[in-house]
Amino acid sequence: MTIKICHICLDENEYSETDTLKKCCNAFICNICWSKLQNNDSINNCPICKKILSEIINENETEITIDEMFMFSSIYELIIKLIKLINLLIKLTAVIVCIIFIIIIIFLVI
Ligand SMILES: [Zn+2]
Ligand SMILES: [Zn+2]
Repeated sequence: MTIKICHICLDENEYSETDTLKKCCNAFICNICWSKLQNNDSINNCPICKKILSEIINENETEITIDEMFMFSSIYELIIKLIKLINLLIKLTAVIVCIIFIIIIIFLVI
């Protein structure tokens, strides 16, 4: 934990590296000011390094989507396995029904 002075509101804040929302440059902006910047439609880039805010946000989002994709792929694999299992069950019941039909037909013939 280090005390940093926000470049926008000039408040002294105690933040650890991982707690700060702003990732683009080393200049410190507190989380409150940073979220205000992101919600402000007239400001499109970081006031310090001029990096485009939407790009910074997108970088964070892609990290999440990779995680989500990984999660979805494991769910997808599970569903495929389930479908294969159900397929197998259907084939098995179809075979059993066929056998029952044959037995019934044989009985009817006799
Ligand atoms: Zn601030
Ligand atoms: Zn910056």
